[in-house]
Parts: sequence; C-alpha cells; structure tokens
Amino acid sequence: MKLALHWKILIGMVLGLLFGLLMKNLQLVEIVSDWIKPFGTIFINLLKMIAVPLIVVSLITGLADLKDISKLSKLGGRTVALYLFTTVTAVSIGLVLANVIKPGNYINEVSRDTLLESFTGDANAKIELAASAKNQGPLQPLVDVVPDNFFAALTDNASMLQVILFTILLGIGIILIDEQKSKPVVDFFKGLNDVILKIIDIIMLAAPIGVFALMASLMVEIPDFTTLGALVVYGLTVVIGLLIMAYIVYPTLLYSFAKVGPKRFFSAIAPAQLLAFSTSSSAATLPVTLERVTEHLGVDEEVSSFVLPLGATVNMDGTSLYQAVAAVFIAQAMGIHLDLTTQLMIVVTATLASIGSAAVPSAGMVMLVIVLGQAGIPEAGLALIFAIDRPLDMCRTVVNVTSDAAVSAIVAKSVGKLNDEKTTS
Ligand code: ASP
Repeated sequence: MKLALHWKILIGMVLGLLFGLLMKNLQLVEIVSDWIKPFGTIFINLLKMIAVPLIVVSLITGLADLKDISKLSKLGGRTVALYLFTTVTAVSIGLVLANVIKPGNYINEVSRDTLLESFTGDANAKIELAASAKNQGPLQPLVDVVPDNFFAALTDNASMLQVILFTILLGIGIILIDEQKSKPVVDFFKGLNDVILKIIDIIMLAAPIGVFALMASLMVEIPDFTTLGALVVYGLTVVIGLLIMAYIVYPTLLYSFAKVGPKRFFSAIAPAQLLAFSTSSSAATLPVTLERVTEHLGVDEEVSSFVLPLGATVNMDGTSLYQAVAAVFIAQAMGIHLDLTTQLMIVVTATLASIGSAAVPSAGMVMLVIVLGQAGIPEAGLALIFAIDRPLDMCRTVVNVTSDAAVSAIVAKSVGKLNDEKTTS
C-alpha cells in the first residue's frame, strides 16, 4: 500500500519522539547527539540549500508569466494587505486570550524566581542579539532590503528579502524587454525550475528519516518537564490562540474568499505543516510549502512563487500571536499592569517585530525583546518563558506556514489563478 507523504512524516515524527524519550531514560543521550542528530541537520541543510535557488528561479518564471506590470502591482497590493490583516488579527486574538485567561496569575513567586534564576544566562544571550536591531534608525529595515551586492545576498540565507527584491527587478526587466529577446532567458529558467522541483521531490524522500532524527534529538535536548509545570497555562494560551488561527480564521477566510474547503486545504498542505513543526523554520519549509501549494492546492505558480517567499520572511501570524501572549504573560507574572494604550502599542510592535523576525528557529523570541522594551516590561522576564520556547516555536511555525499558504490561495482566487481541479493530496 502506498502511504501518503504526510502519514510517512507523521510516523517518522512519532517514532523519533519515542526513540528520543527511550534514549533519554536509558541515559544514552550521546548516541542520539553523535549518531542520530546529524541526519536531522543534513535534512534541514538540504532544504535550506534548495530554498534560495528555488526562490530565484520560480519567482522569475512566475513573474515572466504575468506578462504585465499592472498585474504584479495588483498581486503585490493584495498580498501585503492580506498579510497585514492576518497578522493584526493574530496579535489581537493573542491579547484577548492573555487578558481573559491571565496565564501570569498561575505562576507563583517561587517558580517565578526559580525560572528567572535558571534561564537568565540564556535570556541575556537573546537580549544581546536583539540589541543590535534596536540600536539602528527607524528606516534601517528598509535599507536592509536593498543589497549592495546581489551575489553576497545569494550566499546568505538571512538575506532572503534582498534576493526577492533583486529577482523581482529581474522579472520586471524580463517583462519589459522585447519578447523575442526574453524568451530564451525565460525558457532557461522554466527548465531549471522543473529541475529544482524534481530535486525537492528527491529531498522529500528523506523526510521521514529527517524528522525522525530531528524529533529524537529534540527530545534528548529539551529541559525536564518538572520545571515546566508553572508554564502550562501560558503554553496552553499560546496553543489555543494558534489553534483558533489555524482551524477557524484561515478556513473561514479560505471558504469565504476562495471557496476552498478545509479538507482540500489541509490535505494539500499537511506535509508542509509537519515539516514546519519538525524544523521550526518557515525558511527551511519553504521549498515544500511552494511545491504543495502549487502542485496540490492548485495555486498557479505565478502567484505562489511571489506570495510564498515573501510570506515566509514577513508574514508570521503564529510568531506575532505568541509575542502578544508572552508580553502580557511576563507583565502579569512580574506584577506589571498594562493599560489599554500599552496593549494597543503591543498590536503595532508585535506586528512589526514578527515582520522583522527571521524565518529560523527561535527568531521570534529575539524580536520579543523589542516588544517588551516598548511596552516597559523588563527584558529579563524573557527568562520566564525560555523553558518552553522550543515546543511553542514548533507550533507557531506551523501557523506561520499555514497563513502563507492560505493567503496564496485567496490571492490566487482573486486574480483567477486558482485551479479548482487540482486537489490531489
Ligand atoms: N521559527 C519561526 C519561523 O521560522 C520564527 C519564530 O517565531 O521564531 O517561522
């Protein structure tokens, strides 16, 4: 029997979790770190390796197919508006939940002080990382989008937006020149695009083994759950918010604006969601998100190749929701009252901070430092949430990726580029 990809990945994940747990109990942690973890790293590296070539090639092919600059600005406008809308919705849901559930009230002074003491060192490392972002002028993020050297940008996975900008210019150039001259260029990239998609198929054959290794090494590395008891309500608040986004907000938007039902949507993107969970990185998941959304959800490549790479870097609903809940939780645990104006400011700062977060593990936590600073909450409070950040990172990355996929389908529908026939899982 041929098992669907998402089942194979799920089995790999569960077996990895159980294996990691077993090895931890048998005190054979080193075997996992020395002999299992490298396979997880190899798998993530393979995905990252293909991400930049994929963005360049598929974006050029997608833009060339548009054949018209006005179509690009329509696509861009709708994408940015939807991304902003979903992010602000996510932050608002996070704030409402944190104010209603009040997770900070469930942590007593003793566990608060223990957590602060145990994780201050780790938290300080993140605070230092955030400091460099904070010391720059307000327009620095804009300056950062423009590379001074395209080839340097290509070699740095953190410069994805720079690569996107240059590639968009390249695509615009192709549209604007004489078709006779642009045709060989476009044909070359079209061929290369198919080759890259094939490579992704090949890499995905290793996905069940890759996630097995990632999960097993995660299990032996995360702290014992005994210290985490006090953080259960906080963790649940974040997860409830993420579930609302994934299973209520996106399906409602998808059905209302694209007539895409939840079954079609989730069976198409499940492998990408599982990879997002296992890798905690929207960037590493991007090749698979792009393949699933284009090949299985029916979003035309003209749309997906533009909407998804942009979304992976700037649209992080899960991250922004988490930042809102975490900020309020830390304030509550430290006995700081946040008035309405401050909370409204959190909507703005968490939206910007999530846009600024890199699509890599724990980036959202670094940018949280900025949200805390703006709201007058002590940054040292980061130590409180450190212990369960990794599992929450895995969950919020799933929502980040789900949101990109949902928006791509809605934008595609709005420009008549959603193929309703293509619904294979
Ligand atoms: N890990 C997240 C992502 O890659 C970002 C974060 O919230 O840390 O989407």
